[in-house]
Amino acid sequence: MGRWAFLLLLALTAPLPAQERRIEVVIEGNQQGLDAWVEGFRGRALAVGISPAAFQEGMAGVTFLPKVVERDRRQDEFTKAIWDYLDKAVSEDRIALGQRALRDEAAVLDRIEATYGVDRQAVVAIWGLESSYGAVRGDIPTISALATLAYDGRRGAFFEGELIEALRILQGGHVAPGAMLGSWAGAMGHTQFMPSSWAKLAVDFDGDGKRNIWSDDPADALASTAAYLAKAGWKKGAPWGREVRLPEGFDYLLAGPRTQKPLAYWAGLGVTDAAGGALAGEDWASLLLPAGAGGPAFLIFDNFAAIETYNLADSYVIAVGHLADRLAGGGPFLAPWPRDLRVLDYFERIELQERLTTAGFDTLGADAKMGPRTLAAIRGYQVKSGLLPDGYPSLPLLERLRSEQPVR
Ligand code: CA
Repeated sequence: MGRWAFLLLLALTAPLPAQERRIEVVIEGNQQGLDAWVEGFRGRALAVGISPAAFQEGMAGVTFLPKVVERDRRQDEFTKAIWDYLDKAVSEDRIALGQRALRDEAAVLDRIEATYGVDRQAVVAIWGLESSYGAVRGDIPTISALATLAYDGRRGAFFEGELIEALRILQGGHVAPGAMLGSWAGAMGHTQFMPSSWAKLAVDFDGDGKRNIWSDDPADALASTAAYLAKAGWKKGAPWGREVRLPEGFDYLLAGPRTQKPLAYWAGLGVTDAAGGALAGEDWASLLLPAGAGGPAFLIFDNFAAIETYNLADSYVIAVGHLADRLAGGGPFLAPWPRDLRVLDYFERIELQERLTTAGFDTLGADAKMGPRTLAAIRGYQVKSGLLPDGYPSLPLLERLRSEQPVR
């Protein structure tokens, strides 16, 4: 969208309550256009080793899926508060089903843990979040989803690469074309592997010669997830993170991934475990405040980064880690979430970035993503304004900027 179209959209949508504002999606593609795109794609696929027969079979009946385009364009719209997300992601139901999964799959999990050195609770937690332990693996034909996204072009090169990997899977006979199903962006099977991740890390654990992450039997998928975490540097028996309590007068500039220190350093500053007990151990950790100074604080370790390779969102990583801890018998977080705060929507996040830039704290563009540059800009502004520099993009912060910059 051009800037003017965006500003127009913003003006049109400004009076609506935040949750009703949507990103405008204009879908220009259609089946005819996709068919023409497939004609052109054929030569590129054959040039990298897809056989004419596999191409024919895999691409037969490929269907333009407008809903997939819409999901792709709307994904930045996601504004769920972390506490609402965690309520669902680590619900009592999901914990109970996970405990049952640990019992039902105990034999294969024993072997997976011994082979890959990855704790079974972490593997099962990813399974629980990605597909509700296999119950919701997605029913969208992967080839059609990827072809639609490659043709649509917003991230065309990426999805064309994934489509080629998907065709390779079919060419290798690992799954029948009709059974290659998944979610809207091409993630497949029990633990939602993208085709390129499948190519690098999926394993045949049941020994039938096929790396089948789609079948009802989850053995290959669970082992593949363990292989994935092992490759990402998983440390068996080590925590992903732990909830901590910060002392009065704590320097919030120490939060964030750039300050990684031994536990003794944090203990020396007066940081304790969530119940007030002493921190002990040799590990290095950084401090994460997923809801700012008003919510729980966590020291996070190397296994946090390992889970991050699966999905970068802090809320996802915390959900996986916490669900794994709950499956191992751990309790809920002790500090309450700031549930009375409404999180910024897509348009407000862009406005925040633009206003921070105007205030002299450059966010290097306004894309609604609260990345490291935006975090640094928020903190710069908070320091200058005498606020707690927790880097959290809160509504009061945006309102303060609005009051200082009434005209844009
Ligand atoms: Ca197999």
